[in-house]
Amino acid sequence: MTANTDTITAIASAPGAAGVGVVRVSGPAVPAIAQNLLGREPQPRHAHFAAFRDVAGELIDRGLLLYFPAPASYTGEHVLELQGHGSAVLLDALLRRVCELGARLARPGEFTERAFLNGKLDLAQAEAVADLIAARSHAGARAALRSMEGVFSRKVETLLQALIALRVHIEAAIDFPEEEIDFLADPAIARQLEALRTQLAELLREAQRGLRLNDGLRVAIIGRPNAGKSSLLNALAGNERAIVTDIAGTTRDVLREQLSLDGIALELADTAGLRDTNDPIEREGVRRAHGELARADIALLVTDAQNAVGDLALLADLPGAVERLVLVNKIDLDHTVEHHEQRDGATWLWASAKTGAGLDVLREHLKRLAGAGSGEGAFSARRRHVLALQQVAVHLDHTAHVLDTSRAGELAAEELRQAQHTLGEITGSYSSDDLLGAIFSSFCIGK
Ligand code: GDP
Ligand code: ZN
Repeated sequence: MTANTDTITAIASAPGAAGVGVVRVSGPAVPAIAQNLLGREPQPRHAHFAAFRDVAGELIDRGLLLYFPAPASYTGEHVLELQGHGSAVLLDALLRRVCELGARLARPGEFTERAFLNGKLDLAQAEAVADLIAARSHAGARAALRSMEGVFSRKVETLLQALIALRVHIEAAIDFPEEEIDFLADPAIARQLEALRTQLAELLREAQRGLRLNDGLRVAIIGRPNAGKSSLLNALAGNERAIVTDIAGTTRDVLREQLSLDGIALELADTAGLRDTNDPIEREGVRRAHGELARADIALLVTDAQNAVGDLALLADLPGAVERLVLVNKIDLDHTVEHHEQRDGATWLWASAKTGAGLDVLREHLKRLAGAGSGEGAFSARRRHVLALQQVAVHLDHTAHVLDTSRAGELAAEELRQAQHTLGEITGSYSSDDLLGAIFSSFCIGK
């Protein structure tokens, strides 16, 4: 596979002054480049101390040269790593020298893309490499490392095999039309499908947790005007980002605040008060509030002691996956003490955005929902993985429906074929150039 590609290079260490800087090279020209820089043939996987010189023989830098012959390398191609002093000027000169010797500058993520194309990593693992580099918390980094090592991919693969087994079973039935009906009525098929759906639901839950560890948690703050939504956002964010006033309906747009709780990212969105209104600007705000809820992980209803029971209706039509929190605000006014409890499928907390009482309990609760302290084996995932798993769930629902009602084997087989395809997109056994381009272009250069 190496013979068909050109040779790429990039500075793999972070920009700016540092103790050590690394230039990485991958491709068929690597042995010749290594030989030229070292003055002799390098030993594989051996740290050579070398003098890197320019075309005129002038010293650029002294450092270590490491040569990894294909296929036992990160990309699966011949790879060279040059470690010099972490000076932008020296690394730049070294990079230029490597280009003179036959390499070209790598695009972002191109090393990892080659690793994927050469079968060193699957797509979910390659994405985890980028997520590991970008991780903002220990929990997030550990989870990304597990995905990079294939924990998520293996679960997807297990599911894929079970799905293929069921598909084979059903397609065999189609091939014997006179017996098809009996075949499809076989309770073993229903059991197989049920087991598959259970397995998928579990993986979806884990992937959703992995997404939160990776991306942070989206919290939509809702509630009637003047409940204290903006005040709460300000109290949590610790600044005066949102405008707080006592004229009802002030918050007309959706305000967003990025917050980090012990390294776990939270995106808080303060929505306009959800109420029917004739003011067109405010009506737009209400429309956006509904949009915000649709993409949130958590709906945080802000209310107060007088309105709590009536405001619960605002949580009524949410999709099942959205976690519900009810914050009874302004406890400083009626001398309630801060506390929390489970009630009506939601967690209730009593607090005051004004005095800050009860907000620590809220922060702890948000952190737990974001996956902090989630135990062994948590892996990272991306939104596209979660969407794919949800799509697979829909296909399996359709399959079950078809088998229950019409026993149309062809239709069931087609649903399973689409489910298999969608599942395969997670690890990249099915992937388009567009998808690959979108994924790898978001990497940093040199990775
Ligand atoms: P929003 O419309 O839901 O965003 O509400 P605001 O955050 O703008 O607050 C409306 C009014 O309630 C303002 O006058 C706030 O100062 C007040 N307020 C908010 N939280 C509290 C609280 O915990 N205690 C008291 N006493 N007043 C509060
Ligand atoms: Zn507000």
